[in-house]
This record gives sequence, C-alpha cells and structure tokens, in this order.
Amino acid sequence: MVHYKTEEEIDILRENAILVSKTLAEVGKHVAPGVTTKQLDKIAETFIRDNGAVPGFLGYGGFPATLCLSVNDMVVHGIPDGYVLQEGDIISVDCGTVYKGFYGDSAYTFPVGEVDAQTALLLKTTEESLYLGAAQAVDGNRTGDIGHAVQSYCEARGFSVVRELVGHGLGRDMHEDPMVPNYGKPGSGKKLREGMVICIEPMINAGAKEVYEKADGWGIATADGRKSAHFEFAVAVRKGKPEILTTFDYIKKIKEY
Ligand code: MG
Ligand code: MG
Repeated sequence: MVHYKTEEEIDILRENAILVSKTLAEVGKHVAPGVTTKQLDKIAETFIRDNGAVPGFLGYGGFPATLCLSVNDMVVHGIPDGYVLQEGDIISVDCGTVYKGFYGDSAYTFPVGEVDAQTALLLKTTEESLYLGAAQAVDGNRTGDIGHAVQSYCEARGFSVVRELVGHGLGRDMHEDPMVPNYGKPGSGKKLREGMVICIEPMINAGAKEVYEKADGWGIATADGRKSAHFEFAVAVRKGKPEILTTFDYIKKIKEY
C-alpha cells in the first residue's frame, strides 16, 4: 500500500534528506587511506545526534550500526568494522535518519584516494544514472520508466544492474511501497503519482550482476568479486518535474569527485 504524503510531510522528509546529505559530506571529509569503517560510523552517529535526529539504520531489523559501509565488491549493507581503507578502494556510504517521525535515506560512493580509470567510470556512470532515473519520477510515469533509464544507461557502458535489491517508497517507514527496481521496461510497473516520495538507488556492478549474502547475514557482495557502486536519492514525485530532496552539493563542496 502506498502512503501518499501531504506537503507538510514532504517538508519533513526534505529536512531528513538534507540532514542525510550533510552527514554524507561529513563522512566524506574523513574518507581516506588509513581510516577504519568503524571510525566513519562514529562520525556519522555523532553528527546526526548533534543535529537533533536519530540514526535510522541503527537497530532497524537488528542492524548494528549508523551507516551501511560497503567497500569494493560489497554492494550494500556492509557492517562497519575494523577494516582500514586502502588507496584505490571505493566505499558506499549509505545513511538513514529519523526526525519528526519520518525517515531519511541516501547514499554516495566515495573513491579512497586515487582509483583506476575503470572504477572512476563506474562511479561516474552510477551517479549519472541516478539523475536519469530521478528525471522519470513524474506524475503519470511508471516505476519501469525509472528502471529503464538507469539500466539502459549503465548497460550501454558495459556495467550490470543488481536485481535482488531495489529502491522503495520513503515515509514513516524506511521501506514503503512501491518497489523501485533499477531495471525494467518503459511503461511497466507501478504508476507514479504526486504525493509519492521514493528512494531511487542504483546498485551497479563493474562485472556480472550476480550477488551473494555474506555470512554475517547483512552484507551483499558481487559473486565475481569485482567492484560495485551505489548512489541513492530521495525524490518527491511531482507533476511535470520531480523534486529531488537529497543533494550532493555538500559533498561536491569538499572535493570535485
Ligand atoms: Mg539507503
Ligand atoms: Mg534505500
């Protein structure tokens, strides 16, 4: 069941989205060789609480941390630990908040120092596909229009789209209807209506699309061990033009990725 939002509720979701955006930038400032994922998690938790909100992932379904931190072949849901970031790694930082009874949820994949050209292309392509998907989030379109925009762009560059995990509605719960796959056919899937707020989150693999679950029951990694990128926006479906609630502007002010 889709929960349509009032303008007042969208205002709160926007506040959450901006706080998540700022948190991602705060974490991004500290992404560097020699830093552990656990240290990054602490930075995010402190920042969110200092801003009067609560980490949205901590305790969600039993998840033990503030951030999902997924390095290299990890697609999503990596648990922060003692892993020390290395030059050439990439790290997906996925962050959630709860503020005024609603959730925030967005993600950005950072390079650690310098990455090779193919990895840089993977990050650029995945981020660009997110904007192309978001552009389809208008009243009257369907979820398949979003998925098709993401899939066709990424596959044309030789990358593959994870099927097992998808975007979702966002509101008083972190995962609401509709599901928003990153693949699909134009004109297929759920119809999008003004008042829907959705998270679009392409998970794009450098190699094959297959993934598996780690022994910890959380982490999802590529079957072939190659790298995977993940970017996520919260978007309000509007008539004519979508409203992207998340912004990566705070991140781009730190460094031109
Ligand atoms: Mg997320
Ligand atoms: Mg999400």
